[in-house]
Amino acid sequence: MTDKNLLLRQLPAVDRILSAPAMQSLAATCPHVLLLEAAQETVADLRRAILDGGATTELTIDAVAEQAARRAENKQEPSLRPVINATGTLLHTNLGRAPLSAAALAAITAISRSYSNLELDLTTGKRGHRFSHVEELLCRLTGAEAAAVVNNNAGAVLLALTALAKGKEAIVSRGEMIEIGGAFRIPEVMEAGGVRLREVGTTNKTHLKDYAGAINEETGLLLKVHTSNYRIVGFTEEVPAAAMVELAHGHGLPVMEDLGSGMLMDLTPFGLPREPTVREAVAAGIDVVTFSGDKLLGGPQAGILVGTRAAIDKIRHHPLARALRIDKLTLAALEATLASYLDERRALTELPVLRMLNMSAAEVEERSRAFAEKLGAALGAAAEIAVIEEPSAIGGGALPLTELPGFAVALTPQGVSVDLLALRLRQGKPPVVGRVQDNRLLLNLRTILPDEEPHLIDALRAALLY
Ligand SMILES: *Cc1c(COP(=O)(O)O)cnc(C)c1O
Repeated sequence: MTDKNLLLRQLPAVDRILSAPAMQSLAATCPHVLLLEAAQETVADLRRAILDGGATTELTIDAVAEQAARRAENKQEPSLRPVINATGTLLHTNLGRAPLSAAALAAITAISRSYSNLELDLTTGKRGHRFSHVEELLCRLTGAEAAAVVNNNAGAVLLALTALAKGKEAIVSRGEMIEIGGAFRIPEVMEAGGVRLREVGTTNKTHLKDYAGAINEETGLLLKVHTSNYRIVGFTEEVPAAAMVELAHGHGLPVMEDLGSGMLMDLTPFGLPREPTVREAVAAGIDVVTFSGDKLLGGPQAGILVGTRAAIDKIRHHPLARALRIDKLTLAALEATLASYLDERRALTELPVLRMLNMSAAEVEERSRAFAEKLGAALGAAAEIAVIEEPSAIGGGALPLTELPGFAVALTPQGVSVDLLALRLRQGKPPVVGRVQDNRLLLNLRTILPDEEPHLIDALRAALLY
């Protein structure tokens, strides 16, 4: 007891901590409120530790002030910060999905640092429309007559459903009643849009006659949803888009398709399964096709709608379009991203997601071996390092069954558990997220940008050596 009292009396007072050199050196850059809070919390923590009998820390003023200074520095770190994605999953919704191209980043900076012609027609001097900056590009890349963009694809689906079929029924196949991560469920989105759901067919098979039999005077549209995050395999049947279009148009009804990831390019040359491209959906006569900006497209978060002039006009003029509108930074990044697709070879070198997708297993192996060597030199005996075969997932609800063959650097830490290593890395500067498997930490170089490699080595040194 007396020991504890003695220690408590040694605890420096808050104002002494604030005037100690470690804290004073931060005074010019760190707001006083944060320094004060850091000093108070440090004292409170130490007091608690002493009372619990666990205070082993030195209680000299310099040691305590140093602790408070580190705490103040942490408080100044932004909450949203860059993370090194070592998971190998290309499109990780929790990690912000697609990294942007240099051109997209430059466009964001250029447009945000000053004013822009966001809604001004520079020829007439009159009010213009924000969609105009990407509409021509989108039409050129997809063959559509018209295009609009909103905040995200969930918003695009909600907007299109509501604008085209509010108060009416939308006919959907039972095999397409999907839930995408984050509680985006087709039936619930429909309900929110004031559209009544009319399910047809069965989970594995839906025929044209199922749609035909469900059409009545209450029908507002036919909806097709790309089952992007799962697959029904085996004995299955879905109706091709063109046949649905023929049926619907015969009744004067529109067809809408939610393509999810929405590819602008055919990815089969990279050994990936055939996915319908946006151009194919448009060519089949679909009235409105919606897709995401930040999945395989490799751009910023956005919901893109392309289709016929008539359908897109209804969507653009719906009041919800204003509520879901895209902001100018996103628009700038999206225009730059789409411009890369005008030359597919350019898209493959400029867009990080396509570069990662296009990276061969041999290339990932070569990078992994070179990295493992550097890591071995940096970490010494602190970890066992191996290069193992490890596929990459695409993620983001795109191509669920597809894995890209590849390699990973596998680390077995010595002296700390792999879970503690993973925790330290997540809390490091910069934070690193890897995959823990079989008591090893896997670092997949496919999703690590080359200029991040030195930072990753520093982060691993900090996590294992200090
Ligand atoms: C991902 C996805 C969505 C949601 O798109 P966000 O851009 O995340 O809002 C909707 N439908 C399908 C089929 C999807 O794959």
